Amino acid sequence: MPHPLQPADRVTVSGDNHWPVKPSWRCALCDEPWPCGPGRAQIIAETGGARVDLALYMAIGMIEAARAEPMIPPADLYRRFLGWVRG
Ligand SMILES: [Zn+2]
Repeated sequence: MPHPLQPADRVTVSGDNHWPVKPSWRCALCDEPWPCGPGRAQIIAETGGARVDLALYMAIGMIEAARAEPMIPPADLYRRFLGWVRG
């Protein structure tokens, strides 16, 4: 079974993970639209707080989600995946 997020080559995943379940893109643990609150904290931790890595990671996820869920308005996807990534 493939890893839920292909671009995760540089990201170590361990323990209980708030990662997206495809193709619904809901959290595996919370069943909320990913990234959930704990999922965001987890991504920040996994990327070591590197903002560029974080933004790139979320951008790739957003593109994947847009392909999987073409009915979701792009503005909603942007808010969900990148709207919380701040400096
Ligand atoms: Zn979660």
